[in-house]
Amino acid sequence: MWEALFLLLPVAALSGWWVGRKSRQFFWSIDKEREPSSEGAEGIETTLALGTLFRKRGEVDKAIYLHQKLANKPNLTARQKIQYVYELAQDYMRAGVYDRAESLFLQLSKNRGKAPENSLKYLIEIYAREKDWSKAIRACEQLEKITHKKQGVLISYFYCELADIAFQKSQHMIAISELKKALEVNNASVRAGLLISEICITLHQHSKALRYLKKIAMQDSGFIAEAIPKIVQCFEKLGKHNALLAYLYELLKQHPSINVVLAIAEQIKKRESEGVAANYLAEFMRQQPSLRGLTYLVDFHLSRTAGIVKEDLLMLKQLMGNLILSKPTYQCIQCGFGSKQLLWQCPSCRTWGQVKPNQI
Ligand SMILES: [Zn+2]
Repeated sequence: MWEALFLLLPVAALSGWWVGRKSRQFFWSIDKEREPSSEGAEGIETTLALGTLFRKRGEVDKAIYLHQKLANKPNLTARQKIQYVYELAQDYMRAGVYDRAESLFLQLSKNRGKAPENSLKYLIEIYAREKDWSKAIRACEQLEKITHKKQGVLISYFYCELADIAFQKSQHMIAISELKKALEVNNASVRAGLLISEICITLHQHSKALRYLKKIAMQDSGFIAEAIPKIVQCFEKLGKHNALLAYLYELLKQHPSINVVLAIAEQIKKRESEGVAANYLAEFMRQQPSLRGLTYLVDFHLSRTAGIVKEDLLMLKQLMGNLILSKPTYQCIQCGFGSKQLLWQCPSCRTWGQVKPNQI
């Protein structure tokens, strides 16, 4: 009995596949039938809307088929032509056929009306996906011209991308020149500040690096965590240990955060003792508890205990380590996307500069 049923399983699967295939063909043929003939404004509107609906449902091949047909119609008005080509370009964009989308959006960007603005925005997205940063900058500049809205923030990210490529190839001067352009269009660019300070450190220009790093802490306190290890490194390289501690205390007054407190605790440990540093940290933790601060305190007590208490503390440390690992180090404030790496463009919602360090 059961064996017979098992034998029938492939047949059932095959017939299910056949029915599914047939019904898809059926619906597609209905769609084609429903697709209005070339005549009539109403028919055209329905075809247009149907194509857009297909694109939204992810059935881009059908959307392309319908919009292409509309765009190829003879005797179209200029407005109609723009409208259909714009829909078609969006279909190609959705399908990931960026070269076709690019050529259509380029064509549209030379027109008048609302189409050029939106087309340029799509072009910027295409160039960013293709990492063609120079073209992305030019498209932004064109967008600035027609909308009279500054695109400095976005352009600065693209100059930073060019700088990053040069820095990877150890072309430090080219990288610095790109970063200066980034700062020219967006003086508050944290990314440019971080990268330029990194290059300065590579070139042993620690005072110059410090100037950029101190600015970052003032510009966007969310990035203090990124700047602090470099700030400490620069002060120490310059042998300015007292100035470092004074700076950190000042920074803490303006932006109380566990990152600054941990850096101060590290300095206290070097100058005085681990015990004084642990007390200082515990005092701060009473007001602002944090997992990383707690781990530091457990570490401190671990070195002073033995036997069963030590085992318990080790287990606690491991649990806290797992908890820290389970949290994303960086998070997009737009869509919540979490990452262990600092990303300047969110891979999920595609916005720039919204992925920030998490306070853990
Ligand atoms: Zn996002």
